[in-house]
Amino acid sequence: MSESLPQRIAVLGATGSIGTSTLDVAARHPERFRIFAVTANGQLDRLFEICARFAPAHAVLGEESAASELRRRLDEAGVATEVSSGPQALADVAAHPEVDAVMAAIVGAAGLVPTLAAVRAGKRVLLANKESLVLAGHLFMEAARESGAQLLPIDSEHNAVFQSLPADYGRNPDAAGVRRVLLTASGGPFRETPIEALASVTPEQACAHPNWVMGRKISVDSATMMNKGLEVIEAHWLFGVAAERIDVVIHPQSVIHSMVEYVDGSVLAQLGNPDMRTPIAHALAYPERIGAGVAPLDLFAIARLTFEPPDLKRFPCLALAYRALQAGGAAAAVLNAANEEAVAAFLDRRLAFGEIARVIEASLERVVDQRVDTLDAAIEADRRAREDARREILARTTR
Ligand code: NAD
Ligand code: MG
Repeated sequence: MSESLPQRIAVLGATGSIGTSTLDVAARHPERFRIFAVTANGQLDRLFEICARFAPAHAVLGEESAASELRRRLDEAGVATEVSSGPQALADVAAHPEVDAVMAAIVGAAGLVPTLAAVRAGKRVLLANKESLVLAGHLFMEAARESGAQLLPIDSEHNAVFQSLPADYGRNPDAAGVRRVLLTASGGPFRETPIEALASVTPEQACAHPNWVMGRKISVDSATMMNKGLEVIEAHWLFGVAAERIDVVIHPQSVIHSMVEYVDGSVLAQLGNPDMRTPIAHALAYPERIGAGVAPLDLFAIARLTFEPPDLKRFPCLALAYRALQAGGAAAAVLNAANEEAVAAFLDRRLAFGEIARVIEASLERVVDQRVDTLDAAIEADRRAREDARREILARTTR
């Protein structure tokens, strides 16, 4: 490895599901990784525990009131972590000169600015925050090209695709003999629920994923399959593959994490237990391999792997994502913003599950032709789409 050990890591979204798994893997290899900075929006107690355990140089919280409370507690506990707050502090730790790698694990569009700051600073970026690519993929990939930042996908599907592509893959499928990318999807908790019953499922049912334990927003996205839609757009930007060459395959066992089909008929896949510590360990140590704490895959216990095509009537969000990708411009930013607003309203019991797709569709119908090639344009497209979606949600609200 060219850089010296230990690698200094900034974990954005350290209190979340991906953040927690990242700290777990890093803690297994203290000689390799030093947690240099951690951030969270508001989970003060959890961030305190993390600071007490890892003694990072920096911690960032959303609000100054929470930051001063954390400062006080760390002081009392004799932990020398510098605590700051707000969006600028977040972007500053992401681009900090002493940071080698950034785990981008904030959920939603809120991750865009700090993740882009890390990319612009030329960091090795471990990308979990798919929403930032959906919102501003072109801008993001251009910034990576200019700075030389290395993007390593954490999303299990994209990490599997990355592992199934040649090491020198240059975002050109034809040059590499790639015919299609096959993204696998579990189908979520409602794969077999009668379609009529889907309209009225609860947040608890939607968040009970059969194979993965995740944050609430991505759990709802998995239940609507918008998660797979966002991943199609993510794959488009990461691997330079057109929408027509990205297929979704329902694979309920979640053992094959995705596949790449080559022109000679070969299909390469990456398999493993559904545990995010595998892609996290892969990206943290890349190109080396390290232990992740993940149980070995027991193929005899799994016995069979099955595949089926996605049902777009059951999962209209998946079709909407393809439509947004094909439309280009601000459409994907609008899709993402409307989805975030609709999911938040559903989790808050203000919107029925079945209405999530309708809110997004209505927002997409109002997309104005607009380029998203600057950060300001992306932020503006996101802001406008949220306002629009909130009006739409209000008109459909259940209380
Ligand atoms: P989570 O809800 O468990 O955690 C989110 C983290 O982001 C928390 O630390 C929270 O404090 C922080 N955060 C939330 N809003 C913020 C804001 N406005 N400003 C700053 N910080 C904020 O989410 P998660 O499941 O860990 O997912 C994180 C990202 O990783 C998402 O983009 C998700 O799509 C992606 N991802 C997650 C999984 C998974 O298994 N959980 C798998 C693939 C991809
Ligand atoms: Mg995924």
